[in-house]
Amino acid sequence: MIDTHCHLNFPPLNARAEAAIHRAFLVGVDQILVPSFDHASWNAVAKLAAYGPVLPAFGIHPWVAERVDTERLKEILVQAGAVAIGEIGLDFKLESFDRELQLTNFQAQLDLAVAMDLPVMLHCRGAFEEMLTILAQMPRCPRGVMHAFSRGPELMERFLGLGLHVAFGGAITRPGAKQARRSAALAPADRILLETDAPSIGLHEVMPEDVEPRHIIDIAVSLAQVRGESFESIADGTTRNARRLFGI
Ligand SMILES: [Zn+2]
Repeated sequence: MIDTHCHLNFPPLNARAEAAIHRAFLVGVDQILVPSFDHASWNAVAKLAAYGPVLPAFGIHPWVAERVDTERLKEILVQAGAVAIGEIGLDFKLESFDRELQLTNFQAQLDLAVAMDLPVMLHCRGAFEEMLTILAQMPRCPRGVMHAFSRGPELMERFLGLGLHVAFGGAITRPGAKQARRSAALAPADRILLETDAPSIGLHEVMPEDVEPRHIIDIAVSLAQVRGESFESIADGTTRNARRLFGI
């Protein structure tokens, strides 16, 4: 199985990255997509890709107050054999983030994704309408995934309508996460991915800092439950989807 979004380079997970990769391997999670955050993280993520199971993505996260260096980005995407541009997006939840810069960086990275025919890993908080408008206005919407999707089916449908995938994580393991679980139940089987977003999002009874790629198994169990499917069909289907989207 594949963890399609894990920050192996973030503390406290970075201190045990090698052990976490090994523990994941033991339970059948044998590929891990690691997105970048800022320019400084690009080298760290490229280094992690030396571990066979790690597949890197490069980009500038909307929380980062740095104008994306698209020339450098292009270079590292090719050199490090990136499987996606990410994570990128919009976050209007906090006033402190520079919205103009976010919009400029987002558009530049979307354009690059189309030019290089790479999928995007999308982060969105508090800016769903803005993101939908930007994506819909592009001559061609890039392939990609709405990561850590935890909203309801109505919003999900609009992203699916643009051809995007949706990734479900720890949220769907929580009985109280009604919206996310409803979306997880209704999403088309060929558009679903699994991710932990470790170490950022907890599972039901697992603290965020303790989450590792091996928890993909628990997320798959919850997804099987809410969809009334077998674990095997979830495991096979989501792995197939990730392979197809990221060309891995
Ligand atoms: Zn993330």
